Amino acid sequence: MIHVKNLFHDYSGKGQYAVNDISFDINKGEIFGFLGPSGAGKSTVQNIMTGLLKLQKGEVSYDSKSVKDLDSSFYNNIGVSFEHPNLYTKLTGYENLKYYTGLFSVPTLDPMVLLDRVGLRDSAKKKAGAYSKGMKQRLVFARALINNPNILFLDEPTSGLDPSTANVIKEIIRQKQQEGCTIFLTTHNMFAADELCNRVAFINDGKIVACDSPRNLKLQFGEKSVKVEYKSGEAVKKDILFLEKEEDRATFNRLVNTKDIQTIHSQEATLEQIFIKLTGRELA
Ligand code: ADP
Ligand code: MG
Repeated sequence: MIHVKNLFHDYSGKGQYAVNDISFDINKGEIFGFLGPSGAGKSTVQNIMTGLLKLQKGEVSYDSKSVKDLDSSFYNNIGVSFEHPNLYTKLTGYENLKYYTGLFSVPTLDPMVLLDRVGLRDSAKKKAGAYSKGMKQRLVFARALINNPNILFLDEPTSGLDPSTANVIKEIIRQKQQEGCTIFLTTHNMFAADELCNRVAFINDGKIVACDSPRNLKLQFGEKSVKVEYKSGEAVKKDILFLEKEEDRATFNRLVNTKDIQTIHSQEATLEQIFIKLTGRELA
């Protein structure tokens, strides 16, 4: 339903591409993630997709309708949460959402219900300017849901949140998917990408370096290892073995047959390890 083809973006006007020939498709009802380090070009892509940045080169379309021809019906249909919360700091959390409801010509949700869902009910009457970073983040997230959108764009929705608040947000994202919402999510957090995304694109230096389900990425690029702990005299020894290697397989069999084994754990590669393997760069 969302189609992006040969997308480029140059802020400088000098041929320095922040987005350098990116193509992908997102299916209806899918959570599609962009995973990459800061500066990779994730937010730029989201901003072009939502019409915030003008399309310079390439195609972006929704059910075959180009982003160049979008009108207010598109904005009634989407929810956007930005990386850097853009809020009315002098208005309360409640007033921020209430104000937003007036911008749509479709039914909107009750601001208080949304504030409650993201854990801000008790701060509803506090000025948004006095919110902590995590509270502001939750308020922009809540705001993105106010028009009950069919497509959600979430830029770093869990960054800077403590684990339990991040879990609340993740749960809402999953619930939106169950309601049929299509979700584009950018993050530099491999756990968020792994837990939430049906497919994830690794993005580095304005390019997609791999794109598949987290599981397939691990199967294709991850080196699965096994950690074996066994008794050696009085001591407990530990070996990490890569079962793709014949030598390690032989060692594994020998240990299992001859030693007093204490534990065996299979260790799956993480998305971050795979990202480093493919790009030489860390995510954070
Ligand atoms: P990410 O979201 O992955 O951190 P961005 O899309 O924000 O990456 O940035 C990609 C590149 O574009 C970076 O090199 C960044 O410095 C540059 N960039 C982002 N926004 C602007 C802007 N408004 N003007 C000039 N350069 C920008
Ligand atoms: Mg960003």
